[in-house]
Amino acid sequence: MSDSHPIAYSPRTGEEVKTTTCYMCACRCGIKVHLKNGHVRYIEGNRDHPVNKGVLCAKGSAGIMQHYSPARLSKPLLRTGERGSGEFKEIEWEEALGIAAQWLTSIRADDPRKLAFFTGRDQSQALTGWWASQFGTPNYAAHGGFCSVNMAAGGIYSIGGSFWEFGEPDWELTRYFMMFGIAEDHDSNPIKTALGKLKANGAKFVSVNPVRTGYSAIADEWLGITPGTDGLFVLALVHELLRAGKVDAPYLVRYTNAPWLVIQNPGAADDGLFARDEEGKPLVWDNAAGAAVSGESAARRDDAEVVLSGEHTLPDGRTATPVFQLLASRYSDVSYAPAAAAEATGISAQTIQRIAFELADAAFSQTVELDVPWTDCYGRKHAKMVGRPVALHAMRGISAHSNGFQTCRALHLLQMLLGTVDVPGGFRYKAPFPKPIPPPQLPAGKPGEVAPNTPMGGPPLGFPAGPSDLLVDADGTPRRIDKAYSWEAPIAAHGMMHTVLANAVRGDPYPIDTLFMYMANMAWNSAMNTAGTMDLLTAKDPDTGAYRIPHIIYSDAFSSEMVGFADLVLPDTTYLERWDCISIMDRPISSADGPADSIRQPVIAPDRDVRPFQDVLLDLGARIGLPGLLTEAGEPKYPGGYADYLVNHQYRPGVGSLAGWRGVDGTETGVGEPNANQLDRYIENGCFWREELQPQQRYFKHCNPAYLEYSVARGFIGGSNPIVLQLYSEQLQRFRLAAQGHGDVQPPEQHRTRIERYFDPLPSWYPPLGDELLAVDGGGEGANDAEHYPVHAITQRPMAMYHSWGSHNAWLRQLHGANRLYTPQVLADELGIIDGDWVWLISPHGRVKGQVKIMQGVNRHTVWTWNAIGKRAGAWNLAADAPESTRGFLLNHLIPDLLPEQGGGYRYANADPITGQAAWYDLRVRLEPAGADEPEHTEPRFEPLPRLPGVAERPTTLQFGEQFRGETQ
Ligand code: SF4
Repeated sequence: MSDSHPIAYSPRTGEEVKTTTCYMCACRCGIKVHLKNGHVRYIEGNRDHPVNKGVLCAKGSAGIMQHYSPARLSKPLLRTGERGSGEFKEIEWEEALGIAAQWLTSIRADDPRKLAFFTGRDQSQALTGWWASQFGTPNYAAHGGFCSVNMAAGGIYSIGGSFWEFGEPDWELTRYFMMFGIAEDHDSNPIKTALGKLKANGAKFVSVNPVRTGYSAIADEWLGITPGTDGLFVLALVHELLRAGKVDAPYLVRYTNAPWLVIQNPGAADDGLFARDEEGKPLVWDNAAGAAVSGESAARRDDAEVVLSGEHTLPDGRTATPVFQLLASRYSDVSYAPAAAAEATGISAQTIQRIAFELADAAFSQTVELDVPWTDCYGRKHAKMVGRPVALHAMRGISAHSNGFQTCRALHLLQMLLGTVDVPGGFRYKAPFPKPIPPPQLPAGKPGEVAPNTPMGGPPLGFPAGPSDLLVDADGTPRRIDKAYSWEAPIAAHGMMHTVLANAVRGDPYPIDTLFMYMANMAWNSAMNTAGTMDLLTAKDPDTGAYRIPHIIYSDAFSSEMVGFADLVLPDTTYLERWDCISIMDRPISSADGPADSIRQPVIAPDRDVRPFQDVLLDLGARIGLPGLLTEAGEPKYPGGYADYLVNHQYRPGVGSLAGWRGVDGTETGVGEPNANQLDRYIENGCFWREELQPQQRYFKHCNPAYLEYSVARGFIGGSNPIVLQLYSEQLQRFRLAAQGHGDVQPPEQHRTRIERYFDPLPSWYPPLGDELLAVDGGGEGANDAEHYPVHAITQRPMAMYHSWGSHNAWLRQLHGANRLYTPQVLADELGIIDGDWVWLISPHGRVKGQVKIMQGVNRHTVWTWNAIGKRAGAWNLAADAPESTRGFLLNHLIPDLLPEQGGGYRYANADPITGQAAWYDLRVRLEPAGADEPEHTEPRFEPLPRLPGVAERPTTLQFGEQFRGETQ
């Protein structure tokens, strides 16, 4: 403090400042951690970091209280009582790792599929997926299957990239921005700052969201859509654009498959496939030649007259029609007209028409031009980069419906029609995207690819291009425990973690021996049918008394609800105590202007007997002798743990976890030998690496050799051929043809109708499956269930909290210690309820009681609440009467994990039939006021969990900083 300034505006908070990467949500902002006398004293945003540029949110600041949480585990635990009782004893790491290694060794020697290895919000999936592959089990995935795989897969199968991690709006240049559904939790600081920029630029921001909160609160226009109808709304916009002739035909011809000829041969095995030449190249109709020619050759000729319409005769006499003709016929139909969409979506026909007009106006009347000459993949020279400044963004809101995959495709269809994919002002790819459609990575685990003591020879997750890529036995039986890549969910690109427990307990398709999980709170907010899930975790064989899932190993840093259900607990560190890697191979932090990756470094040493999960995984792998984790002499290959692996492991020659400072002397980028000093270079640079693209590389990346050749050189993709955007998906048509009885690999009879219906090669909309089944009296009580459950119920995460991790955080609890049921005024009036009243929410699956908060900004058929605030009493070392468990409630109790039986006795997962994405937001409920004599606390209630051994005594008041009082600055 100086004499002239009596107030210290920026007091020194620590003696030392270390950079690392935040992990309080999924955004991965750069942070600076101030340390003094061995304590974390303050966290600030790193101004140099490409993700947040110094911005830090409430969650990020509260990382201190996460690190010092009294809920931290402190030692390995071995179950001593019944599973779920919370009775454990502390054991040493050597014993814990010995037990785990013994279980895993015996499974691997017998049948590696008896290991189900699933991780939650794991940011080390390059490692965990590789480890599963080396173990030899296909039963691996992270949490994407119950998060946002529809968004990722819908994009990857349409434009070779997607929203959020794989792409972003051109925040600087866009003039019209539409955001669909909730997105606050997956791109928090970057979108906040970008929205500020966008509004300062005078661009229009339209939010399509049943709830006006979060980003929607600052939107110029809010469209309070009915949940699950976004696809219908988007296709009505498409109808209007087609009607007005407002589509970018030159863009469609140059960069999409709009002119590709689709064979019209109903009933035959080639119906709906692309007509191709002898080399397999798709054909287009060239009026100048009066013949079908390869699209690629036509693109290289100035005199070609490629057509988008008509019916054409191929040399062999078959008939074929351009994709554009098919889509124009489909969406011009009156069933897609705004008037037809208005009632279901809750958005008036006039509004839909006006939004379509505004989109067209922004795209075609406000064109952006950059004075950047470039040459496309076909050799055409362009004097400028010209763009249509309309940008879309979507995340979990549309993903978490059973129609989410097709809805995401509809969004990308709209982008393509407007010519706004990777153009100035539009949507922009982030490296390593775009990738070929679909990426040439198939899931391993077919018959013959899984054998005792043998790695699989491929990754467990990938992108099927047709039925022959599925992981099914000859009779169609799923090969994976979660049934991903089976006829139940053929394009389950992120696995289906939400189905593992029920399938394993039923032995459908087979029983397992060990469930190994990391950071996945399956006994609470990461599961549908929460009470039923707890029953599954503890289910026993009535004849033998043995648990149906014989072993459960679980790793977590905190005493979450799930810990009590483990047999063996491996305590993890906090994010400030370990090495980590945000890899381009995994969950990139690139921006559209350049690739980037980053690390976490341990900024403070653990004061408990805990170990980073990634170190433990490498140690376990060496103990059980996984190939790639032992030297030729049989010693652990990475004795330095995860840091050693990050630097020295190569997934293929020259390609490792980190792209920066490769090569022996650190001068190579992307591809290069390991560099022993690589992590030092990252730390010197603030724990991140970034490379800036040249101006001529920044747009049209899908057809821009300046970018594609760069992408190949950096090891992001295998070849620099143009990536043709797919309005029409031949991959989906192949599945549909199989369902119609064509090809060597066909679905069993029970799945045929479902596959044929949902695998539409053009983006389609159908009501969420739950709605459809209710409408046919599939769900529960009453003759017409839809009438019994007229209200949609959805959740969001508060901006200040990221799922259950954050909701025990002492500072963040003060913002959200309990949750209310946000109810539209009109519905409250109908029910005669007011603010603070207790109501029952009733679904066909269960009942939950919560307290009402009336809200104006919500769709009139929808109620909503914050997710994961409600907690099981005693969990997370909170008091049994903490507000989280007395006034906080969890909607998950109401959501079934399985759809009703539809004949034949089989019950599908409550999920998207294409990707297996968990359909959290399909939930339908009714509300009933609670009785005046009912106790005023949330229900259902469960036995309080005891404090686990090694978990700190719960303080009555949790304070931070008190202990530093009196210290000199
Ligand atoms: S947005 Fe997420 S990653 Fe960034 S500071 Fe906040 S919590 Fe941390």
